[in-house]
Amino acid sequence: MEFNKARNIIGLRVLSDNIIWLWVKDKSVVVVDPSVHEPVIRYINENNFQLEAILQTHHHSDHIGGTKSLIERWPSVKVIASSKEKKRIPFQNVSVEDGETLSILGEDVKIIEVLGHTSSHIAFFLNGENPVLFIGDTLFSGGCGRIFEGTYKQMYSSLDRIKSLPKNTLIYCAHEYTKGNILWALNLKPKDQDIKNKLLEVEKKLSLNELTIPFSLDEEMKINLFLRSKNLEEFTFLRANKDLWV
Ligand SMILES: [Zn+2]
Repeated sequence: MEFNKARNIIGLRVLSDNIIWLWVKDKSVVVVDPSVHEPVIRYINENNFQLEAILQTHHHSDHIGGTKSLIERWPSVKVIASSKEKKRIPFQNVSVEDGETLSILGEDVKIIEVLGHTSSHIAFFLNGENPVLFIGDTLFSGGCGRIFEGTYKQMYSSLDRIKSLPKNTLIYCAHEYTKGNILWALNLKPKDQDIKNKLLEVEKKLSLNELTIPFSLDEEMKINLFLRSKNLEEFTFLRANKDLWV
């Protein structure tokens, strides 16, 4: 478990490299992309909390797999997902669109559509003094999501949208892929001091059994080759190159 003191966001590591994020306020919990249900139920029960809402960034099974069982346990829970995904995220009861703002745990949460990984991927942005972005599989530390359903152009535009957010935004992605991504980036830019420093930082955290996530947007813009790419051509080259790396 990892803690963000400003917001009380806890990461549960599940499956091989997924992270389920729990945003806790008072006794209420919002869960982001529950791939599985058991550790979520256990955590909430152990702490005597109540599940308020489930945020779904996209339809992949390692993001929605635990949702059905969580609804059975807490029937009044809100399941918030893209209105374009009523078939593939069938348990949604709050359907949202790009640009909409919802009130969750007393805070404004803005929906930002970030297409590319899937045809309807969304992110959840909490503004304020300590901004937070739940980004799902669109951006990872040192990497970005594979383009399964969208286009390179859509993913490039999605990264542009992320780059326009406040630079102190803490980004919570759904997979611990950081080390592999940094090794790939170093292979392409072996002399890049920022990326070399990032590898040391990541290896230290992993050796202490800590997550390398969240990461701040300003730090990420220094080391993420996808965020650093200057045009669509460069981005397309990098994404295709990364697809062959692993
Ligand atoms: Zn995915």
